[in-house]
Amino acid sequence: MAIATINPATGETVKEFAPLDAAARERGIAEAQSAYEALKSTSYAQRGEWMRASAGIVESEADDLARILTLEMGKPIAQAKAEVLKCAKNMRFYADHAEGFLADEPLQDPSAVGASKAYAVYQPLGVILAVMPWNYPLWQVVRFAAPALMAGNTGVLKHASNVPQAALWLDTIFERGGFPTGSFRTLLIGAREVEGVLRDPRIQAVTLTGSEPAGRSVAAIAGSEVKKSVMELGGSDPFIVMPSADLEAAATTAVKARVQNNGQSCIAAKRFLVHADVYDEFAKLFADKMKALKVGDPFDESVDVGPVATESGRADLIELLDDAVAKGATVLAGGTPVDGPGWFFTPTLVTDLTDDMRLVMEEAFGPLASLYKVADREEAVRIANQTTFGLSSAVWTRDADDEEHFVRELEAGAVFINGMTVSYPELPFGGVKNSGFGRELAKEGIREFTNVKTVWRG
Ligand code: NDP
Repeated sequence: MAIATINPATGETVKEFAPLDAAARERGIAEAQSAYEALKSTSYAQRGEWMRASAGIVESEADDLARILTLEMGKPIAQAKAEVLKCAKNMRFYADHAEGFLADEPLQDPSAVGASKAYAVYQPLGVILAVMPWNYPLWQVVRFAAPALMAGNTGVLKHASNVPQAALWLDTIFERGGFPTGSFRTLLIGAREVEGVLRDPRIQAVTLTGSEPAGRSVAAIAGSEVKKSVMELGGSDPFIVMPSADLEAAATTAVKARVQNNGQSCIAAKRFLVHADVYDEFAKLFADKMKALKVGDPFDESVDVGPVATESGRADLIELLDDAVAKGATVLAGGTPVDGPGWFFTPTLVTDLTDDMRLVMEEAFGPLASLYKVADREEAVRIANQTTFGLSSAVWTRDADDEEHFVRELEAGAVFINGMTVSYPELPFGGVKNSGFGRELAKEGIREFTNVKTVWRG
């Protein structure tokens, strides 16, 4: 895949970038390694100061940055701005909390292990490789980078080939805030070059957000090198609506949870499982709200849904929809092609799904929602858990017993009750099953790339 900015709203190639040659790649890793030597012995207070300064730069450049995101991957401009500001928030969160999250942890009763004192310390690992996707070009990266740098690690980034301008902006943001030169380096390289970088002895670990095939490949290489990895892969999250739910609120949130970011979010609700008692009413509300969405130029503030980021991404959606319709699915909203340039896909709602349809098991990465009628909460759980994914889930109910049942039974890294899945700096984030392993954000996220060193004194 060429490294280039291609405007998904027009299909036009705006700018191409030459990939780094071997010498430049080597320079990037070497800089990150020498930055680590400097960074690891700095104080949390110092790193916090640099991180807050970096956050300030992000905020002051938010409008320009938002325009880069919208140009390169097509998200509506207001959502691009929100993404930028969320990055600054995450930077400040870790600036404030890293020291507490990584404070020494004494064993309350050291005599139990024959010691006068025993405790764990959290130390950085070194240079961490981040392989990142285009759907949240800044957030996915900062979600990793802010805690990693606060812990004293440094990072090298292999970003998705279709967001090079965002990638290059990230290359300098932390050193502009004061971090040692090379603390974070963007390597403009193709996917094939990842293996060589990951096998470099200076790289201690890898984090990847992206598709399952990319995750399998990179995790296998990390495994063969016995290097730690964190994998945040796809999802096909269920959104369950029970009879006690506030249907109007549930339907409004269902639309947002499906089409936000033009439907291209790992934690988007993709399968809507609705109790038979409220199915007809909910289906009508959901379909009407999907039909009311405005699709178009993502730079237009009034637009709800922009184009899908890549031509192949839209082709995948069309294939999934055509397959379902050919096998008997009913289209309740959308389903019509969009004429003209750009990779637009009309927000679409389908129902009457059967197990032979690809849409039942595969992730629809765009504004394509699947609606199921379920007889009871047991059937909801069975369908929710039948995919190979297990990232997050949402449940709408005002019944405490139902709530407890779903929290216990859903195979997912998170359950959101009467809301939609959102990633927060304060809460751990990650999946089970083929959605990956490891956690980002919160205390768990910053501890992933640390050496938990046990200290025992006799
Ligand atoms: P990919 O997983 O292919 O891309 C994510 C990142 O991984 C990019 O930097 C990509 O580089 C890199 N990459 C891809 N393959 C490999 C590999 N074998 N070894 C090393 N690095 C690799 O996502 P796509 O853009 O192709 O999207 C396809 C699907 O992935 C989507 O439809 C969706 O299902 C899922 N996805 C999930 C995301 C999430 O948030 N969990 C985010 C994006 C996609 P390059 O761009 O150069 O190929």
